[in-house]
Amino acid sequence: MTFVCPNIGVNAEGRLTFAGQDTLRLAEEYGTPLYLMDEDRIRHNCRLYLDAFKASFRPGSLPHYAAKAAAFKAICRVVAEEGMGIDVCSTGEIATAVAAGVDMTRVMFPSNGKSDGDIRYALDRGVGCFVIDNTEELLALEAEAEKRGITKKALLRLTPGIDPHTYAAVNTGMVDSKFGVAIETGQAEQFVRLALQQKHIELLGYHCHVGSQVFGEDVFERAAVVMLEFIADMAKKTGYLAGVLDLGGGYGVPYVASDPAIDIPAKIASVAAAVKETCVRLGIAEPCIMMEPGRSIVADAGMTLYRVLAVKRITGYKSYVTIDGGMTDDPRYALYGSRYTVLAAGRMGETADFRCTLAGRCCESGDLIQENILLPDGVGRGDVIAVCTTGAYNYSMASNYNRFGRPPVVMLRDGESYVAVRRETPEDLLRLDA
Ligand SMILES: *Cc1c(COP(=O)(O)O)cnc(C)c1O
Repeated sequence: MTFVCPNIGVNAEGRLTFAGQDTLRLAEEYGTPLYLMDEDRIRHNCRLYLDAFKASFRPGSLPHYAAKAAAFKAICRVVAEEGMGIDVCSTGEIATAVAAGVDMTRVMFPSNGKSDGDIRYALDRGVGCFVIDNTEELLALEAEAEKRGITKKALLRLTPGIDPHTYAAVNTGMVDSKFGVAIETGQAEQFVRLALQQKHIELLGYHCHVGSQVFGEDVFERAAVVMLEFIADMAKKTGYLAGVLDLGGGYGVPYVASDPAIDIPAKIASVAAAVKETCVRLGIAEPCIMMEPGRSIVADAGMTLYRVLAVKRITGYKSYVTIDGGMTDDPRYALYGSRYTVLAAGRMGETADFRCTLAGRCCESGDLIQENILLPDGVGRGDVIAVCTTGAYNYSMASNYNRFGRPPVVMLRDGESYVAVRRETPEDLLRLDA
């Protein structure tokens, strides 16, 4: 059997394994629902980017892990140990990076809405570089930096007008996006001119992010060309030549067998070729390149284990397999209809021909993890169900709807396991109540 990621397998007893470990044993030891994270896979994914960056881009270029994909101390520690920078988008993510001991000069702060409090919090904790989304934020950061008598490094977030053909909810690079300032309308030029007038902001360059779960052939290459042309145009008009170009995150990962797999090193080499060629054509020095992968660092490092609570066969209609989790630990199907590979961990040798919908236990009809899947007919209460490729935007999007506690995150490394985030208890949930 081949799976969406080589860290998934079946052992001699016919049980599903993840990172070489028996998933039934892990479900027994830690309880369900349970997030598993394969630390070795995270490190492997970081190295794909780091090695390709070293081979392809000029010194000073750096991939940053987009922490929003999965933010807790252990992940920040692991990616920082590998040498990645980190992108944070809230005070909570900043606090997590600080607590993990991350070198804050390697941390960037994008987000399209920063309050004065957020700006002060980030400055207090030494966040290295702001990614400024809009004029109000630019002026608010300038005012706060002036008050402190400091100069802060920043990139300006621009929208290159690229449609990456992905889910509407995760498209971000188009002209009418809520993120950044559009090049096409001329507003980006005004934004740059205003930034250059600020005395306490050191403009390093520009940032863009075209979308997420991107499989398009040349999306990043096209974005790079548009951004480099803008760099050259601004250099001509203002004399300011940007030294940094951040191309954002977004490479897709396969969730089901029919999804294509992206060869990250090959992709980066192709982006680097486009950057070099365009810089030569435009007669500008090659900027340092940043990228901000989130999903492609952690998605395939994750798997969620549940136990079946009930199997409901509605005569003449459809069938539901109800599990002990749901949209509270994985809202992605409810949000975007995202696909997943679902496996019955203890029945890997059985034929999967029972068509059903995997349903959560929240009081909400839309609380489904996946529809129209095939599981073995014998599946029943107590069976362990594995949902694959849940490392990105699962734990980080988890909620306490219905006051369910969030599952623990158990990291797998070298055949061993450890709790990175413990299970949330009813006492934890009551902690904030007066
Ligand atoms: C979400 C986001 C990323 C990460 O995107 P992935 O699809 O997870 O790689 C990177 N940069 C910015 C600005 C983002 O908003």
